[in-house]
Amino acid sequence: MLPVRDIVRKPGEMREHSFTVALAEQWGEGIVSYEAGSKLDVDVRLESVHEGILVSGTVDAEYAGVCGRCLTDIARPVEVEFQELFAYPGEEETDFEVQDDHVDLETLVRDATVLSLPFQPVCQPDCPGLDPNTGERLTVSAGAEQAAPIDPRWSALQQITDQGRAAERGATENTEES
Ligand SMILES: [Zn+2]
Repeated sequence: MLPVRDIVRKPGEMREHSFTVALAEQWGEGIVSYEAGSKLDVDVRLESVHEGILVSGTVDAEYAGVCGRCLTDIARPVEVEFQELFAYPGEEETDFEVQDDHVDLETLVRDATVLSLPFQPVCQPDCPGLDPNTGERLTVSAGAEQAAPIDPRWSALQQITDQGRAAERGATENTEES
């Protein structure tokens, strides 16, 4: 809730607020959501117009949950914009009204942030998902494998394997050590 008493019925007046809220309860019901206790950074601008108070702003938040394909835990930052006219009572048909001397942003902010949750969240755009037969997580695609740094302990092993394969083929380009 934000006070608007000082700009009510003063078209042209404007106030800006920035604040952080911690969610008292989880927002969103899907496989990703904004968890209870997670923080929302809200920047909001209140503009007095003839019909009421025009409220606009952005929310920075982070949703968490699991990838819709492979069920890996994921967390992603999002920035959500919102804008709504809070009308003076009786002035206009609207979902939001100026209440006495304040505007209540919770429903507006909540609807905007929950609607921005992805319907089918994925850990990466080309997540291969789970093997339909075994339920095991499929190995990542070649592109993702190159992007991810290889654990040095494994890279030594991989080098040996590469050398083995190269030797089998009779090639020499991977056998720098002799
Ligand atoms: Zn995934």
